[in-house]
Amino acid sequence: MTRTEAITALLRRPRPVRDLLAYELRGSIVQLLAPGTTAPTWTATPQLLAEALDTAVTRHAAAEAAAAPGDGHALVVHYDDLDLVAACQCGTPLGRARPGTPLDAVAVPWERHLAIGLPLARATA
Ligand SMILES: [Zn+2]
Repeated sequence: MTRTEAITALLRRPRPVRDLLAYELRGSIVQLLAPGTTAPTWTATPQLLAEALDTAVTRHAAAEAAAAPGDGHALVVHYDDLDLVAACQCGTPLGRARPGTPLDAVAVPWERHLAIGLPLARATA
């Protein structure tokens, strides 16, 4: 999925951000209207839409970085719905963690990958 496709997918979702708060309905809003209708598919303030686009682009970039194997072994973490998903920059998956919980669930496998996996991979290469 390209970045443009990620943004388009966000804009086509029924709720791109969240329901508007009452005070936000008094300000400027952006709406998605289906052809031939005046009933909005979704409504957001410009700021909420900008935040949603920024989040979508950031997630897309992180997913691309995690999916594209690199030469390095940096810990790459990105949001996937409610979870944090971790992978090594080389493409080795390292697991998932809930936001707000200790990152040991992904940091320990990453340290093990660096300490054990790399010397083994080098020895067998
Ligand atoms: Zn690695």
